[in-house]
Amino acid sequence: MSARGTIPREVDVAVVGGGVVGCAIARALSQFELDVCLIDRETDVGFGTSKANSGIIHAGHHSASGTLKGTLEWAGNQQWGPLADELGIGFERVGDLTVAFDEDEVATLERLRRQAVEREVPGVELWDGPRLRREEPNLSPEIVAGLFAPSTGVINPYEACFALAEDAVANGVSLLLDAPVHSIDVVPDGLALGLPEGTVQARVVVNAAGLGADRIEAMVGLHTFDLVARKGEEYLLDKRLEGLVRRIVFPCPTPTSKGTLVIPTFDGTIMIGPTAVDVDDRDDLTTTSDGAAQVLRAARRLVPGISPGDCIAEFAGVRAVATTNDFVIGATEVPGFVNVAGIQSPGLTAAPAIAELATRLVAEQGLALSPEPSPVPFERCPVPVRDLDGATRAERASADPAFGRVVCRCELVTEGEVRGAIRRGATTLDGVKFRTRAGMGRCQGGSCTWRVMEALSAETGRPVDALTKRGGDSWLVLRREDPMIDGATS
Ligand SMILES: Cc1cc2nc3c(=O)[nH]c(=O)nc-3n(C[C@H](O)[C@H](O)[C@H](O)COP(=O)(O)OP(=O)(O)OC[C@H]3O[C@@H](n4cnc5c(N)ncnc54)[C@H](O)[C@@H]3O)c2cc1C
Repeated sequence: MSARGTIPREVDVAVVGGGVVGCAIARALSQFELDVCLIDRETDVGFGTSKANSGIIHAGHHSASGTLKGTLEWAGNQQWGPLADELGIGFERVGDLTVAFDEDEVATLERLRRQAVEREVPGVELWDGPRLRREEPNLSPEIVAGLFAPSTGVINPYEACFALAEDAVANGVSLLLDAPVHSIDVVPDGLALGLPEGTVQARVVVNAAGLGADRIEAMVGLHTFDLVARKGEEYLLDKRLEGLVRRIVFPCPTPTSKGTLVIPTFDGTIMIGPTAVDVDDRDDLTTTSDGAAQVLRAARRLVPGISPGDCIAEFAGVRAVATTNDFVIGATEVPGFVNVAGIQSPGLTAAPAIAELATRLVAEQGLALSPEPSPVPFERCPVPVRDLDGATRAERASADPAFGRVVCRCELVTEGEVRGAIRRGATTLDGVKFRTRAGMGRCQGGSCTWRVMEALSAETGRPVDALTKRGGDSWLVLRREDPMIDGATS
């Protein structure tokens, strides 16, 4: 995946926003004979809301009936299985349990079960207390019933973004990163997007800009929706708790959130969260002592064996929630301008179905969808060394000694894998971390950060003091002349 493409002067479709939704749309469009560019202001795809979420592919019955969220949740759930196979990304249907503590909550489970039946979500069953405790012995003894849904899955959301974007680029999509769209002018035959390094003219613009979608819409003089920024804090537990629960555990939902969950992630760690708090600052990714206390309290109510000392890492993500509390997807009165906005949860789940819908909307703007005659098959990432048996590891290391040199001991990541991730598009420490897991283990990068920086420097030819954690001014090393260094000389 080329990290920073050359700006094309004219395209058929410009997709603004390289989150999971924009990446899925760009990939879907790349299967047709169209010139497409995917634009993001960040230094990598998936660096917005899409990398900071719970990674759940929801079962299909959680969102309310009669909403676009509800329809696309189930459609997206069904598409992730084949899509993950095609892209070679991790996806496992672990199932989920929504649990009830009293009879009122059992009534909510009944409502969710009816929703599942209406949508034909398969295998949803109501379990009583004894069955629950046989299946999940670490659940609270106060839980009286649970609704089991086997179709729920888990993925690594950033892995999904990288694979979708890589496949799109292999099939001709121009990827423009570090490219904030600052203006959109209506011009004959389309829309002209202003970027720091030039202008792209597109016949159709798909606004998939997440928390920036209202500002992108305002650039064409429209104001058809309002967004609220809703922050969610998540806490990762030590890997030794692997297996504490085998299925995702949900409390009964509230009107604003699905509640705080206990999530066995795809990588085997247990994650607890998220909170749901409306914030004024859309860039507020701080975690707080209140948030931690709230998440721990709620998680311990479900699984009492979790304790504060189990938390090894934490992060926050911000959802872009439309005030209508539904996705905002559709054409607008500006010809060629299509909104795919307000993609709150379950946006990750729904992304492949949203991409299908967006492709139809692009066609309705007058672009012919002729299938690409010679699509390029996806080149899957090699199986991680940590998942290989001893003999295959040794074979790989003797073919290339870089696969025998361990960089991240917690997650068993080799130098060969770090270099491979950089060659596939990672340009920052986080780009390597999210592609390989180097730095995600118990020591949180304490032992591998420097070695990843050495590999980044060697592969990209940039000195270490030009490297960043996640782009912008997130420098990893302060320069001598930096005013933050005491006694700096000029
Ligand atoms: C805590 C939390 C937990 C969640 N858990 C789940 C879950 O388990 N399952 C699920 O289905 N959903 C979940 N969600 C929701 C899910 O993460 C989102 O629905 C999804 O990531 C939205 O994707 P997106 O592509 O619309 O937005 P984003 O990923 O935010 O992408 C939008 C992109 O637009 C770019 N952009 C913005 N403005 C501009 C501009 N002017 N120029 C260029 N680029 C611009 C941004 O840089 C960003 O990369 C969760 C969300 C949160 C916050």
